[in-house]
Amino acid sequence: MGLLLKLALLGVALYAAYKTFSRWKGLYDRFVGPPPVPQKPEPPRAPEPASTTQTAQARPKVIEETVQCAGCGAYVSTAAEKCGHCDRPLP
Ligand SMILES: [Zn+2]
Repeated sequence: MGLLLKLALLGVALYAAYKTFSRWKGLYDRFVGPPPVPQKPEPPRAPEPASTTQTAQARPKVIEETVQCAGCGAYVSTAAEKCGHCDRPLP
């Protein structure tokens, strides 16, 4: 058996393996669908550090003002008229 024949057989085997693989891959893609391509969202413009701190300072704080209930010690919003825990009217 010549070396050339062995190489030819190897090439045929590799070709068959490749064709089988691509065929199954095509079947898989047809039934399952192609793998989702991760879409890279447009990266937002990197703001400069100075402007970042400026916007952070300019942004109003949304921390709600609370007052401690004299009856139960719970912190209740000043917008509430009475404590939600013990129904004690807030000053
Ligand atoms: Zn209370």
